[in-house]
Order: sequence, then structure tokens, then C-alpha cells
Amino acid sequence: MVFLPSETPKAVQLEDTFRHKGLRKKLVDEIRDKGISDEIVLRAMNRVPRHLFMDNSFVGFAYVDKAFPISSGQTISQPYTVAFQTEALQIKSTDRVLEVGTGSGYQAAVLCEMGVSLFTIERQRSLYDFACILLPKLGYHPQFFYGDGYLGLPTYGPFDKIIVTAGAASVPESLKQQLVVGGRMVIPVGNRQHQVMTIVVREGENKYSEREAGNFVFVPMLPGIADEK
Ligand code: SAH
Repeated sequence: MVFLPSETPKAVQLEDTFRHKGLRKKLVDEIRDKGISDEIVLRAMNRVPRHLFMDNSFVGFAYVDKAFPISSGQTISQPYTVAFQTEALQIKSTDRVLEVGTGSGYQAAVLCEMGVSLFTIERQRSLYDFACILLPKLGYHPQFFYGDGYLGLPTYGPFDKIIVTAGAASVPESLKQQLVVGGRMVIPVGNRQHQVMTIVVREGENKYSEREAGNFVFVPMLPGIADEK
């Protein structure tokens, strides 16, 4: 089944049972064992009911540490990857954060759970529509935008943190410019097959540092909406 905007509000059962909570705790323990040590990130992941973000066909696997298909040919990121990117952002609850690639809304929920002001942008209409309905129902209230994440949100920036959740060919200049001085961006950079997690820090008005932090596989970033066929 794919998520269609018209069927989401009624069809989604917002149940979070003891069984779900137990499976989630195990998943969080597994992620900790894989090397994530920021307990604030782990606590947030322990609170977000990932099964509510999954396509129905895969809901039984919500607490397996893997990426799964959602609609529109996209994926919900692997929990370890969500934890890795969130930890790398060094989140403070006072941060203004931009997320590129709302997708299922799961990463957005984890960030909201950490208390940040979140701005999230998605360029596929059906995913945008779905997240706009689901997240507020779960008590998460980021600002949603339908648009091209390559451009970011210049009128809402600058941001303390930027997270990109699709693979980019390079670090978009427009996003770098939307970081505050001292701000940090976590972005997977590479080709369609694999990307290197890249951490960009704006050290000064015109000075950026870049550090590589391991190999990952993301769906590729899509071109701007104007190019859509
Ligand atoms: N953060 C998501 C991961 C989604 S996968 C989650 O937690 O589930 C990557 C998402 O990026 C997809 O939904 C895709 O549609 C979106 N995307 C790809 N190119 C984009 C672009 N140029 N601007 C905004 N979103 C984009």
C-alpha cells in the first residue's frame, strides 16, 4: 500500500502499545551498542513511535534497524542513520534547525522531540501532505514547506543547524550561506550508489570547514520542482 493523502488522516491508527514500546527500547539499545552515545538523542528516539511513520506493508519491521520504502519511491531512513546525523548536529533545544527532505516525517519528529524549532522542506507533494497531517497529530509542530531543498529557506534563515536527508552531489552553496556563523550542517555527499556523511561548520562569515564522517546510502536528492515532468 502507498500512503495517499486522502486516506491518511482516518486510516492511520495512532496506537503505541506496550509491545511497540518494548521493541523500541530494544532498538535504541542496539543503536547505542553500534556506537551512538548521546543519551538525549537516544531518549528522543525512544519516544518517537516509528511504526506510525511506516508504509503499512512494512509496519511489522518498524523496530528493525533498516531503511524501508515509503511512497513516491523514497525511504524512511535507517534508525542508526537518524541517530548518527542527529548526534553529529550537536543539537541544543534552543536551535533553529532546517531539515531538507521531510519524507516520512520520522527524522523531523526526533528533532521536535529534542525541543528545537524545526523548519522542514519536502519537494514531493504526497509526502509533504502526509507529514503535515501526521506530525501535528502526534504532537509535533515543525513548520512545513513544499519546495526545493537545494535552495533552502532564505527568508527563514539563518539556521543554527541544517540536516539534509537525501544524497547530494555536492554541498549546496545556498545552504552553506543559510548557516549562522558557528552553525553546522550534516549532509551526505556523493553519487547515486553511496555518499560520505559530511559535516560542514561555518567558522566565519566566509570560512567553512568540512569533515568526513563515514559512508552511508541515501536516496538521491531530486532536482527542483520546476524540472518536474
Ligand atoms: N527524513 C526522512 C528521509 C526521507 S528520504 C525520513 O525521516 O523519513 C529523502 C527525502 O528527501 C524524500 O522524501 C525526498 O522526496 C526528499 N527530497 C529529495 N530531493 C529533495 C529536494 N530537492 N528538496 C526537498 N526534498 C527533497
